[in-house]
Amino acid sequence: MADLSFYGGVGEIGGNKIKVDGQETSFFFDFGLAFARANDYLSEFLQPRKSNGILDFVALGLLPCVKGIYREDYLRHSGMSYQSKPAVDGVFISHAHVDHAAYIHHLREDIPIYLSQESLFILKALEDTGIASFSDYTQLKKTFHLVPKKRGEGHTRSREKVNREIRITRPYKFFEMGEFHVKSIPVDHSLPGACGYVALNDDDTIVYTGDLRFHGRQPELTRKFVDIARKSRPTIMLSEGTRIKSEHNITEDEIEERAIKQVDLARNLVIVNYPVRDLDRLITFYRVAQHTNRQLVVSLKQAYILNLFQGQGYPDVSDILIYKPRRGWGLIDNKSFACVEDEWLCTSDIDPQQSIRDYHNWEREFLERDNIIKYQELQREPESYIFRSDFFELKELIDIKPKDAVYIKSSTEPFDPQMEISERKVQNWLNLFKIHYVKEGFHASGHASGPEILKMIQDIHPDKVFPIHTEYPEEFALLEDDGIEVVYPQSLQPKN
Ligand SMILES: [Zn+2]
Ligand SMILES: [Zn+2]
Repeated sequence: MADLSFYGGVGEIGGNKIKVDGQETSFFFDFGLAFARANDYLSEFLQPRKSNGILDFVALGLLPCVKGIYREDYLRHSGMSYQSKPAVDGVFISHAHVDHAAYIHHLREDIPIYLSQESLFILKALEDTGIASFSDYTQLKKTFHLVPKKRGEGHTRSREKVNREIRITRPYKFFEMGEFHVKSIPVDHSLPGACGYVALNDDDTIVYTGDLRFHGRQPELTRKFVDIARKSRPTIMLSEGTRIKSEHNITEDEIEERAIKQVDLARNLVIVNYPVRDLDRLITFYRVAQHTNRQLVVSLKQAYILNLFQGQGYPDVSDILIYKPRRGWGLIDNKSFACVEDEWLCTSDIDPQQSIRDYHNWEREFLERDNIIKYQELQREPESYIFRSDFFELKELIDIKPKDAVYIKSSTEPFDPQMEISERKVQNWLNLFKIHYVKEGFHASGHASGPEILKMIQDIHPDKVFPIHTEYPEEFALLEDDGIEVVYPQSLQPKN
């Protein structure tokens, strides 16, 4: 049998890093960040040091101790050896959520990363728009490299970037990787481009679900995945079980219906919080806005992501409004002043090019568009808009000063102490501005319910199933009655 090593995703939701060793070929399914474990040790201002390469991550049990997979700059900088060839032949990314893809950053650039076109778009957007310091997903910035100065003596720090070996998979088409035939199969999940995999060699056929659901906007994708996986007669199946204990689902259509009723009752600004990469949810609130004679207002970041998906069934970027926040010097209204050669001038009298400098390069292409909107418009006609705001955008409330506003929470319930703290802060902000908080029934999970997961595995009927991406692997035991062996994987990462 193929050798399976689990370096994450065991007894926890996410952090999948599963190594498969065939006779001569090795690969990983996903290479993600384990949220719960990271939160046990880290916080916003307590982060692993880049100066220590991979070693902080390894010390905290966030990255596995596996030779031949990590980037040369980090290894050599810490005095470790670097072998000429990578120890694995590839990494198959199921989708672009950080708990599946974030730690690509640490991998050597010559390890091929297999992923869907949509996942590449999203990772590229994260790389381009993120402020995270560990986000070399498509290009590796050579760290700890000095190059001769262009002028004068001495050295300067290199800014060189090298491209990763990115291999875009074509859905349903087999490709070869060493001794394995592999194909990616699209599934429905809470962001575009999610897929599962079938990988087979002479000994085994392995099915990997990634994250999936049957109650999103494209359930037929997941059903087709089940059909193909069943026909492949797998010996091994690695199945997610995030919601194995949950019986029921809320669908996007239900959210839409409920939200229309809620927004119809509102007389002023409606604020909604949904995940920035969940473009299905964007569709939902775009439709809610249409039904309630409002317009949806999104952040520059969401506009940037949406722009990458034009022509693929999502709303056109020009059909929504894009919110321009005050940044840097905040030069977008007449309330700010700047000193120009000893004279304090009102912003409107200052060269407009100065205001552009407050924004990142990736944001600038949107700033001159007709569908840009600022806080003054939201103040003037609050009844005309649905304003998407996530946690980090709550500060916009200080500019908008909403009255009798409604805030709809359309994101997951807090499931760790960090999220509970954030939730309390949201509540405090809403109290401060006397905003009515609506939080029940407006989120559709990206994951199938327990009965759906069990039925899926029964249908596919592998010889063995390994429960992953779940806190309750023992709930899979029922499958033994169907003649499916349930194998409880052990994590190779140190225990907390
Ligand atoms: Zn996940
Ligand atoms: Zn996911």
